[in-house]
Amino acid sequence: MQYDHILIRYGEMALKGKNRKSFIMQLEHNLQQQLKDYPKTKVKRTQGRMFVLLNGHDPEDVMEKCKNVFGIQSMSLAIKVRNDEDEIHDAALWALKNAIDVKTFKVTVKRVDKKFPIRSQDMNQTLGKYLLLNTNGFTVDVHKPDLELKVEIRTEATYITTSVVPGLGGLPVGTSGKTLLMLSGGIDSPVAGFLAMKRGVEIEAVHFHSPPFTSDRAKQKVLDLAEKLTSYGNKVNVHVVPFTKLQQHIFREMPENYAMTIMRRIMMRICERVCRKESILSITTGESLGQVASQTMESMNTINEVTNFPILRPLVAMDKDDIVRVSKKIDTYDISIRPYEDCCTIFVPKSPKTRPGREKVNQFESQTDFTELIEEAVKGIEVVTLSGKIDAEKEFDDLL
Ligand code: ATP
Ligand code: MG
Repeated sequence: MQYDHILIRYGEMALKGKNRKSFIMQLEHNLQQQLKDYPKTKVKRTQGRMFVLLNGHDPEDVMEKCKNVFGIQSMSLAIKVRNDEDEIHDAALWALKNAIDVKTFKVTVKRVDKKFPIRSQDMNQTLGKYLLLNTNGFTVDVHKPDLELKVEIRTEATYITTSVVPGLGGLPVGTSGKTLLMLSGGIDSPVAGFLAMKRGVEIEAVHFHSPPFTSDRAKQKVLDLAEKLTSYGNKVNVHVVPFTKLQQHIFREMPENYAMTIMRRIMMRICERVCRKESILSITTGESLGQVASQTMESMNTINEVTNFPILRPLVAMDKDDIVRVSKKIDTYDISIRPYEDCCTIFVPKSPKTRPGREKVNQFESQTDFTELIEEAVKGIEVVTLSGKIDAEKEFDDLL
């Protein structure tokens, strides 16, 4: 005998009234995508939940993949048998004997199919007895059992499930539109991307690259980060913007202590151009209030002036420790700490203005013309598509 199904529960989605159907379809699609390396698996929808039919694939391997799919509340391995008392007994016995680290158990029978001749209460008792008689060393504990054996007798079949494994939670990627993630090589922005995806948002990324000041390895680092993010959703397009000329121009023509703010404003203008071209409705950054000089309220206010696209900042309320913790969980941390330079660390001014007012910045910007350089940068964008070949085989039990 072996587990032949994974039961998928999707809590939050059940609440989402009229969007429910599209959410369920998207989750089904995302699961199928995630399981494409397991071609015999099938995803099946039934009332209020989903099943993955394993058709011979290893249950633990497939479960590991499902742990990367947003929108899943929890999962359980399941055995499907006919609505037959003996078959149910055998399967439950097998499940109990194969459970790890279990001394106490409890049986919970739920009879959905009222045509099944034995009532839930009676079945609880007879099955419990049967299990005790045919095993050694187990006791029943109805209050705090190590294992709850759930037996659900439905019309089409009976499902026997054991432990409940937490899923990633959130909403299926693809149900909340698309965002343009500003992806640097740092720790924060990949985490911001992951959290946007958690709310069902699909991502496309933009990276500002300044060769030869930033190397190919620095660019590769960003592509590797984007590749990691694909394991939680679909493919990710990375728009690599050649930024050298603009950056040199800014740092040559603008007062040094305002250069950082002006550089960010130019980045935003270019992001908006990419958004318009790709029909993307928002921009996401890894900013967290107060972290560095460029992340003060004044600075955000001044940077925001150049676009009226919504800017998502999923990390705004998080402490650095929490951000690092998530980046380790999602396996981006080790990539992020590779020691390659990024465009913002090269041209760091000695004392950037922590309160760059809009008026001042506009006045400085009006002394020079960035239009042509922006056009050139936009024309020079290289789009790299990452399709997701790497797994992030991680545990998410206590994530967030
Ligand atoms: P991170 O760890 O994500 O690099 P950070 O704490 O270093 O963030 P900043 O360098 O101030 O913060 O950057 C703030 C945000 O601006 C980043 O999180 C990222 O979203 C965006 N950003 C910075 N540099 C780049 C870049 N070269 N290309 C694309 N986006 C960038
Ligand atoms: Mg950075």
